[in-house]
Amino acid sequence: MVATGKWSVAEDLNLKMVIGGQRLEASNGARLTTEDPATGRVIGSFPAATADDVGRAVENSRAALKGDWRRMTPAARGRVLVRAAAILRREADRLARIETLDSGKPLREAKADLETSAGYFEYYGGFADKLEGTSIPLGPDYMSFTLHEPVGVTAHVIPWNFPLTTTARGVAPALAAGCTAVVKPAALTTLTSLLLADVLDEAGLPAGVYNVVPGRGSEAGAALVAHPDVAHVTFTGSVATGQGIMRTAADHVASVTLELGGKSPVAVLADADLGAAVEGTLKAIYMNAGQVCSAGSRLVVERKVHAAMMERLVPRVAAMEAGHGLDDAAIGPMVSAEQVQIVADYVEDARRANSLEILVGGRRLAPAGLERGHFYAPTIIDDAPRSARVVQEEIFGPVLTVQIVDSPEEAIAVANDSPFGLCAGIYTRDIARAMAFARDVDAGQVFINQYFAGGISTPFGGTKMSGFGREKGLAALASYYRVKCITTRL
Ligand code: NAP
Ligand code: MG
Repeated sequence: MVATGKWSVAEDLNLKMVIGGQRLEASNGARLTTEDPATGRVIGSFPAATADDVGRAVENSRAALKGDWRRMTPAARGRVLVRAAAILRREADRLARIETLDSGKPLREAKADLETSAGYFEYYGGFADKLEGTSIPLGPDYMSFTLHEPVGVTAHVIPWNFPLTTTARGVAPALAAGCTAVVKPAALTTLTSLLLADVLDEAGLPAGVYNVVPGRGSEAGAALVAHPDVAHVTFTGSVATGQGIMRTAADHVASVTLELGGKSPVAVLADADLGAAVEGTLKAIYMNAGQVCSAGSRLVVERKVHAAMMERLVPRVAAMEAGHGLDDAAIGPMVSAEQVQIVADYVEDARRANSLEILVGGRRLAPAGLERGHFYAPTIIDDAPRSARVVQEEIFGPVLTVQIVDSPEEAIAVANDSPFGLCAGIYTRDIARAMAFARDVDAGQVFINQYFAGGISTPFGGTKMSGFGREKGLAALASYYRVKCITTRL
């Protein structure tokens, strides 16, 4: 089961799961395969963890909390993470190729993901010895102070769109705070979270601190979030799965971070630098073939510049050539045949139910030599009404809907007319208008004049159906420590 030929890597991608520092098969021997979405070929396999395996991983993780990991000074813990960052950078080309092969994303994006993942370990490694508590003044007869203690075993349920970065985004702050981690990667893209275990081993992470239980969400994922010894669940994925996880976590009163996607607006006001707005919009919606929770999937444009924006955008989108991620194509495949079908159904609904105009795209693609791949053309749907399904629902594909407005105030109203509230972008030269938009828009992060501005150190998370809790930045650490207050009478 090793893919050979042009689109392959020079290593065996039939991997084992990671429990307590050991590389193991599932207790019942079951394995799953993973494909290259560009060719439809199987490129590797991994064990399908059973509920027993998950139980063992959580037990190991719990034991590791009390072992060498706890005895390490916070500074030494931080150095492990910083070393992991250096090893990830050393292995970046190799791991980026594997990420591309498994997920389909263009190689330049996978390389950026590797750098981001290394960045998370470096950034949070620096915080391991700086999680200071406070002292509380109660007068001369008392001393009172707080400790930041690790919450315990943390579960990380990972989606398929950013396999390694989402893992690093949750695991790095958890480890910095002294927690241990059990990761359930998405079955479609499991490989890099397993390979991260080798990186962390080499960096000196004690056995059992980082465990990976691959497999199906309904089995391995469900068993993980239901485990009574899991203290916190960090989940990124769909609303329905997130809601189920929150209910399950309630049974054992585990805290949850839910990152559930969005339908984020990119507002372009009449005074905007249209060149910047075009570049920003292209990146906002077509990165990773639109399979991005924070994608800017709704262009909310003032009527005065609508035609000018479309004149610039449409030829650029029409010129995007689809191809294999390893060839660094302008746009890669979607992750699976199912995802392509979902996108095709949404576009068909826009055509039939709303008679909307598809300015470009709106069809499946079959690049030469990749006829069995899962490709969908980058698409723009013009002048969509607020009520259209393609406006209200997350498509999770390379489909931009355009909404035309007549004022900056209407842009805010349209931006907020969504069940989601993850990100919002605005392009304008008027800083007061930008700030008014930032103040009034329902979103966890607002990007002004550069969609996706920010990075590892800028807090990230949703409002409304996009979820709650914050990842990235200092804010993320709060999920992974709890405050213990100690007060003494003198
Ligand atoms: P999903 O079902 O929410 O999957 C996310 C993760 O949860 C995967 O690891 C999945 O495992 C796991 N999972 C599934 N059922 C579970 C359960 N009962 N208990 C615990 N874990 C469980 O999302 P999806 O099916 O991959 O994608 C569906 C839609 O979700 C997409 O179309 C998109 O709208 C949205 N999505 C959002 C993001 C985001 O970044 N916010 C990312 C991906 C998808 P398996 O997949 O391995 O079974
Ligand atoms: Mg795959």
